[in-house]
Amino acid sequence: MIDVRVLDLSSIRDSLKKGDFTSKELVKSYIERIEGSSKLNTYNTTTFEQALDRAEISDGKIKKNEAGPLEGIPIGIKDLFCTQGVKTTASSKILENFIPSYESTVTENLFKSGMIMLGKLSNDEFAMGSSNETSANGAVVNPWRSRNSEKELVPGGSSGGSSAAVAASLCPLATATDTGGSIRQPAAFTGTVGLKPTYGRCSRWGIVAFASSLDQAGPITKTVRDSALALQAMAGYDNKDSTSANIEVENFENYRNSNLNGMSIGIPKEFEELDLSLDIRQNWEEAIQWYKEAGVNIKSINLPHCKYALPAYYIIAPAEASSNLARYDGVKYGKRVPGEDLDSLYKRTRAEGFGDEVKRRILMGTYVLSAGYYDAYYLKAQKVRRLIHEDFLEAFKTVDAILTPTTPTTAFGIGENISDPLKMYSNDILTVPVNLAGLPAISIPSGLDSSGLPMGIQLITNHFDEKSLFKFGRLIEESRVNIEMPTDWWIKK
Ligand code: GLN
Repeated sequence: MIDVRVLDLSSIRDSLKKGDFTSKELVKSYIERIEGSSKLNTYNTTTFEQALDRAEISDGKIKKNEAGPLEGIPIGIKDLFCTQGVKTTASSKILENFIPSYESTVTENLFKSGMIMLGKLSNDEFAMGSSNETSANGAVVNPWRSRNSEKELVPGGSSGGSSAAVAASLCPLATATDTGGSIRQPAAFTGTVGLKPTYGRCSRWGIVAFASSLDQAGPITKTVRDSALALQAMAGYDNKDSTSANIEVENFENYRNSNLNGMSIGIPKEFEELDLSLDIRQNWEEAIQWYKEAGVNIKSINLPHCKYALPAYYIIAPAEASSNLARYDGVKYGKRVPGEDLDSLYKRTRAEGFGDEVKRRILMGTYVLSAGYYDAYYLKAQKVRRLIHEDFLEAFKTVDAILTPTTPTTAFGIGENISDPLKMYSNDILTVPVNLAGLPAISIPSGLDSSGLPMGIQLITNHFDEKSLFKFGRLIEESRVNIEMPTDWWIKK
């Protein structure tokens, strides 16, 4: 068996090309590791047999020099991306038996580049959450634990299955989605790299919708370079998504030839005033120092309306969700719970099909959109959103990137925050403004806190400037104290 723990996307790509191992050997090694890691509860569905068949085809292509750019490399897919002929549940009971007859554009792009799906990864139900505890399949467990503690921690959410799987080497790349932080926050909690591309960069077609004006797909990987490789394969214009951007997908891997000297980074004053853990604050200061030493100008900037980002987000996202989730009525598709009449069929289906957090969002969303409250809440939130957007555009007139921590704390315990929605929502305070402004951002592991848990630094750039995220991000990887991998404590020996 191949030791997949030491591999990443780019090293696998090179090894397959050189013939160090075959795709089939590689897929078998991941399968064995996934089978030994059931404790982490990352995969909702596995597709091992198809993966082995596909690996044989890829090996043939590699031999004949017909390989795609990521040929024969295994991938885990968040269970929010529709996969043709393979169950897609959004980790919800209401979609527990849903088998799409079509493929999402992002997964189609990845498969076209040669990637092989190992299975579907857990997430918070309908991507609503910050801890992956709201999945109908139960909580996902973070492969990281504090030093000298056996307490099980959350992997972040909603893409917690994706982040835990990459951190535990159960796939070298996982797809994820980010509506308010769901790629970056789980990446920060698990010592992985999470990229939320510019809104419109990756097609939303075939992804189960949460809040359509905010949802964006992106990769979770082990390294910045892998993030660039993955974005290359995922992104591109798609006429099936009306908000897809018709913008050239440049060669993102080129970021490696660039120099940071003379560039500038902004530090938002308002973020300094937030309630951040001491370790996270110190780590942020350390990162600023790394950039100074590389010749980057550090500037203090203002994002005055970001203090309203969280309340605005928790109006806009539920409003869009309440409308998007109206389709799950027991009639068109998904679960059906029969009743005496149509009304009771609707009610029973939705009462049994949705979990508490999803119901909470639907109730909030319906309320803020209702006649009489629409102007006071929804319209007001949209105005705030515009002001936040303008804050960022103003800042990017003077800086090339913005640097903040990704999360206010490191990973918390399973069960610790689940009964306190406001506390859970406050996790998104540093990530949500980016979604409201449609900007790209990346979270990069930047060190371990005093109890040995990973921390993440967030970089934000202007629309469609993902390349600078990679360019700046690389320095964090090169400067941080080496982060070792989590020990394999969950694997039965
Ligand atoms: N935690 C946020 C929420 O619950 C973000 C979720 C997401 O980005 N999908 O809405």
